[in-house]
Amino acid sequence: KKGLNKTRENLTNRIEKLVIGYADIDDDFLDELEETLLMADVGVPTTERLMKVVRQGIKQKKINAPEDLKPFLAQEISDILTAGEEQDKTRVAAAGPTVLLVIGVNGAGKTTTIGKLSAYYKAQGKSVMLAAADTFRAAAIDQLEVWGERTGAQVIKHEEGSDPAAVAFDAVNAAKARGVDVLIVDTAGRLQTKSNLMQELEKINRVIKREIPEAPHETLLVLDATTGQNAIHQAELFTKVAPITGVVLTKLDGTAKGGVVIGIKSQLSMPVKWIGVGEGVEDLRPFVAEDFARALLG
Ligand code: GDP
Repeated sequence: KKGLNKTRENLTNRIEKLVIGYADIDDDFLDELEETLLMADVGVPTTERLMKVVRQGIKQKKINAPEDLKPFLAQEISDILTAGEEQDKTRVAAAGPTVLLVIGVNGAGKTTTIGKLSAYYKAQGKSVMLAAADTFRAAAIDQLEVWGERTGAQVIKHEEGSDPAAVAFDAVNAAKARGVDVLIVDTAGRLQTKSNLMQELEKINRVIKREIPEAPHETLLVLDATTGQNAIHQAELFTKVAPITGVVLTKLDGTAKGGVVIGIKSQLSMPVKWIGVGEGVEDLRPFVAEDFARALLG
């Protein structure tokens, strides 16, 4: 599978080397396993959790030799990632437009992800509208227009510096009036002015809800996988800003740190719903936990 190769090679190869390098499971083996998980950016709490389960597996004789480790870990990781999977499905509107609110810090890949999502829904035969509610940066509005043109989506925009909630209001009403299937709302990503951003997102949320009570159907947080554990830290901050229903993990093609997927789910109980595996419009995949676990550990 394109894009996941680096992540897979890293964790799989390391674990394979580990398995080949040891005849028995001893303390050195366990130390090296712990280090391997940390290097893949699984994160400290999740690594500790996995190490505990591995030690239990050894005691219960489910792991008797180094080669038993891979299938055992694959199953554990799959269990972590698929926990509560029902609620992890992408929500869609029963009638009227499905509203996706997209949040995340600048540079994480928010605009690109919106373009990819637009192309994804377009390919499914749906009509798509984009709302340029990051009014702080003129470049963000321009970029969204480019993605709109490229993917055949309508774009609702106001001038730079105007009220983002007003853009959201216009967009929701235009989407309803024009019978649009999917409305994707871009937002500003200045986390350094956290309280402003929180107020801004709250207002956008409120305005959307006033027009469509069950919207936004999804609030997607875009995180850059190459930032590793920092992505988890950002996710923690954003949970204080908005009720997040799913994560889009971008740039997985450029990192061996895909273990962060496991950390996000295990530490924050936040489902990863989409992964970005390149800069192209088609480089977005729905995240399937079992496939990922299998790909990760072969
Ligand atoms: P924004 O500031 O959050 O809107 O970020 P952009 O969408 O402008 O993306 C920032 C940079 O990351 C751009 O150069 C994108 O092409 C790149 N990018 C976004 N998603 C991915 C991805 O999944 N893989 C790779 N390799 N690059 C990505």
